[in-house]
Amino acid sequence: MTGLRLDRIVIVGGGTAGWMAGAALGRFIVPGGTEVVLVESDEIGTIGVGEATIPPIQKFNHLLGIGEAEFLRATSGTFKLGIEFVDWGRPGDRYIHPFGRFGRDIAGIDFHQLYLRERQRRPLPPIDSFSIGAQAALAGRFTHPRADPSQPTHDIAYAYHFDATRYALFLRSFAERRGVVRREGRVVDVALNPQTGFVESILLADGTRIGGDLFIDCSGFRGLLIEQQLSTGFEDWSHWLPCDRAIAVPSENHGAPHPFTRSTAREAGWQWRIPLQHRTGNGHVYASAFLDDDRAEAILLANLEGAALGAARPLRFATGRRRLAWNRNVVALGLAAGFVEPLESTSIHLIQHGISMLLALMPDKDFAPTERDEYNRQMRASFEAVRDFIILHYKLTQRDDTEFWRYCREMSVPETLAQRMDLFLRRGRYLKGDNDLFTLNSWVAVMLGQNGWPSGYDPLTDALDPDKVGRQIDLARTAITGAVAEMPLHMDALRQMNATEPQPDDHVPAA
Ligand code: FAD
Repeated sequence: MTGLRLDRIVIVGGGTAGWMAGAALGRFIVPGGTEVVLVESDEIGTIGVGEATIPPIQKFNHLLGIGEAEFLRATSGTFKLGIEFVDWGRPGDRYIHPFGRFGRDIAGIDFHQLYLRERQRRPLPPIDSFSIGAQAALAGRFTHPRADPSQPTHDIAYAYHFDATRYALFLRSFAERRGVVRREGRVVDVALNPQTGFVESILLADGTRIGGDLFIDCSGFRGLLIEQQLSTGFEDWSHWLPCDRAIAVPSENHGAPHPFTRSTAREAGWQWRIPLQHRTGNGHVYASAFLDDDRAEAILLANLEGAALGAARPLRFATGRRRLAWNRNVVALGLAAGFVEPLESTSIHLIQHGISMLLALMPDKDFAPTERDEYNRQMRASFEAVRDFIILHYKLTQRDDTEFWRYCREMSVPETLAQRMDLFLRRGRYLKGDNDLFTLNSWVAVMLGQNGWPSGYDPLTDALDPDKVGRQIDLARTAITGAVAEMPLHMDALRQMNATEPQPDDHVPAA
């Protein structure tokens, strides 16, 4: 089989997707003798947003051998313990979707079932009072998870916020040190093999032609190879997720950075706040069918906590996925593969997942359909699972104050989601699907956070003595409160691990 090994992989695009792929291939593929070339165009630039992540990114860094403190210093990164959702259920509501679990199971019964039963006996505080991640987030504190399972801090799970431009630069330097060759230039033409329709080479504006066996399309929304050349097609999901525009602006930090992302519902969309060490990222995601651009910008600027650093930048996007993420000898990653709005910070994760799948299914020169088909099956299922979880936030709203929210409440949802909502609304049940990224705790957080209370609880819960369970629920809360009080403040935690080296001042992300 060695004669069939790929000689060269060409990555088109040097945004987050391109350089994540470059870093991973530099680490795992270049040492085996395959050349990796990445082409990017400074003239075109990158999208320059994408700054909040979810916990699996730790695994990506770990596999690459990237140290946490080095990574946070280089990207002005902060810790993220979850997302606070403001005004999503009804105006005035707020809840945290924390990473990590709620409470502790007792005798194999999920904590939220115990909580649901206890709530029928007496008033209880919101379920995020039983999450160490949520409570630490609200207190502005952070600590790494402890190995000792008897400690509440064992249940901490976290991700990062980081500066997208610095992240790409950081990964670029990592990849180049591992042999990935960067070529600056604009791709102006693509040559296809007339028999197979495979991409044979790309032509740069300066006349250089670069051939390859496998092409990874990381060219962003335009999908230079996967769509413009191979006409792969796009499955549009905008009827379920009508937001199609965003406007982004960084602002000065207002106080110490919070260890959580905030998403505040607005009249036809929502606004993000992502705190970094040196600035805060802000953006307003909205549906152009319900809100005009000027008003969207005005809403964003009126709701910044610190002074804006630079002009607000408009972005347009289509929600959906490429019908095939891998078509012929082109694999699309990042925005070229598809996009679901950043409400749960999933895009970078889907890039990471695409890279892991590609490494697991790396083709030979014969490009056997088996590997391609499995890749497409996996990516399709992963995108759809994320899509359903994001739609859940909209469908579950009780807001009826604007046309946009009325549309979201009343829209029909994918059958896969409708079934899961019904299951949860009966007895709080959730059964994990093969490709679920968001599992039990996430469903509990969003369903209960947005007032999606089940009408009953799991009858298995009745095998446990309610008085004993009630005492354990109270003890769990006390233990969490005590543990949070002992944690360092977020910035102190970053300083203690030497993750706050001052960075040169570049407040405004690349256009
Ligand atoms: P881009 O950054 O657009 O990069 C495309 C690359 O292709 C560039 O290097 C460009 O120069 C190159 N290129 C294009 N055409 C050519 C050509 N002809 N020749 C040569 N080079 C070319 N994700 C998250 O996980 N968390 C978030 O919080 C988050 N927030 C987001 C907010 C918004 C409003 C949007 C729109 C997206 C957000 N995302 C988020 C998604 C995230 O930004 C992207 O997944 C990520 O940045 C990857 O982008 P990319 O590399 O695919 O594309």
